[in-house]
Amino acid sequence: MPSNDAALNLYIDGEWVGRERRDTSSVLNPATGEETGRLPIADITDLDRALDAAERGFRSWRQVSPDARSAILRRAAALMRERVNLLADVATQEQGKLRSEAKGEALFAATLLDFHAAEGQRVYGRVLPRPQGTRSLVLQQPIGPVAAFCAWNFPLLNVVRKLAPALAAGCSIILKPSEETPGSAIEIFRCFQDAGLPGDVAQCVFGVPDVVSRHLLASPVTRKLSFTGSVPVGKHLMRLAADTMMKTTMELGGHCPVLVFDDCDLEKTLDLLVTTKFRNAGQICISPTRFHVQETIYQRFVEGFAERAGHIRMGNGMSAESQMGPMANARRPVAIESLIADAEKHGARLLAGGTRTESEGFFFAPTVLADVPLEARAMSDEPFGPVALIRPFSSFDDAVAEANRLPYGLGAYCFTENGRRQNLLGDVIEAGMVAINSVKMSWPDAPFGGMKDSGYGSEDGPEGIAAHLATKSVHIG
Ligand code: NAD
Repeated sequence: MPSNDAALNLYIDGEWVGRERRDTSSVLNPATGEETGRLPIADITDLDRALDAAERGFRSWRQVSPDARSAILRRAAALMRERVNLLADVATQEQGKLRSEAKGEALFAATLLDFHAAEGQRVYGRVLPRPQGTRSLVLQQPIGPVAAFCAWNFPLLNVVRKLAPALAAGCSIILKPSEETPGSAIEIFRCFQDAGLPGDVAQCVFGVPDVVSRHLLASPVTRKLSFTGSVPVGKHLMRLAADTMMKTTMELGGHCPVLVFDDCDLEKTLDLLVTTKFRNAGQICISPTRFHVQETIYQRFVEGFAERAGHIRMGNGMSAESQMGPMANARRPVAIESLIADAEKHGARLLAGGTRTESEGFFFAPTVLADVPLEARAMSDEPFGPVALIRPFSSFDDAVAEANRLPYGLGAYCFTENGRRQNLLGDVIEAGMVAINSVKMSWPDAPFGGMKDSGYGSEDGPEGIAAHLATKSVHIG
């Protein structure tokens, strides 16, 4: 169990601080709407302490051998596995997702951390061909202290996605997780602390997001920005980062198209898609969102989807009976309700859900809308909720044009047994990740990230560490 020291606190320079603060924000359980804790808000003095520590921590951590760094990261991953039940409990009670999902998230985060621990030992440079006795070297060096900000939808994984590549590359980091899911981040930091990570290498702060990011990004100490969240906030942070010419990684929102062709295995496709659509109540940046279905199987697809969605049991994520938990905060049901009303006004057919449920908490029923006109706001704005939008298409070209219509370019899903079509789709879809006859696009060794408005600079895979390195050439005559 967490010690009192780690109860909703800031973690700066190896100390848990903030318990005595009067400036706090409220942490709620989304299944009940009740307050579960008060979170201290970092002030400018805290942020300056964190910057000082990160500057010092970077100087020492970059000199630690990759083997020794790797050993600490592996120990932290082992502790995450050992504490998986605690991590899952905390994440579910502050974010709302099913406990089984939270447990899977914690275990995936540990695997990702192990991957980076190993990858950090393989940061190679190059020796260029030069006349005998002379050398040109290309070095890959840790870029410096990182400022990272991440969202509430994967309260454990998002935190590890920021910490793992930065630390494996030899950088220090100041992370501001979401103020709505602080307990998960705190428990992850405890794993690193107990694994022996020096206290000045990774800091965890919470506060008023705009105050924290402005202060950290204005500091000459910070050399890299990494952000997971919405497109408007991402663009705002990039503008701030431009002033100090900071390297950036942007993992922003998506509006993932799903192209379903009539040669797919329809029942299997429906089973996969319905489960994936309502995972984490649809609050996933790569959630399948716009379902474009070949007109020859459209009716069967729509009926099969609505039928399956109608059977999903909603409830508190802590109950093993539940198949979908509440939304993460009070803002989401309001946003979803307004998108559905707008879609119906434009002529969409509501086939399942469409309403808030339960008297308490932030529950919203799994919702299926068919024949959704392109003019409906939901067809362009990321719903980030349990809403499936379904439309028919007639030709391959129409389907691809529709998939590429939006400024988003994060993930895309395609279902077809035709091999030539699979290759073509992989080539022409404008998205950072394309899954064909599968819903899995997040793997530790594969780059995770988008293009267009969904951001750039991949996380995970060797690309995740590369994003935390500066390239330098050294020429010896
Ligand atoms: P939001 O943009 O207000 O917040 C998203 C995250 O960014 C939060 O954790 C917040 O603390 C942080 N944030 C906000 N302003 C910030 C600032 N100035 N500096 C630093 N951090 C800041 O949106 P929201 O209402 O919390 O979530 C809804 C939207 O967020 C969705 O529509 C979706 O697009 C996006 N989102 C995306 C992801 C993702 O994985 N890409 C995850 C969660 C949310």
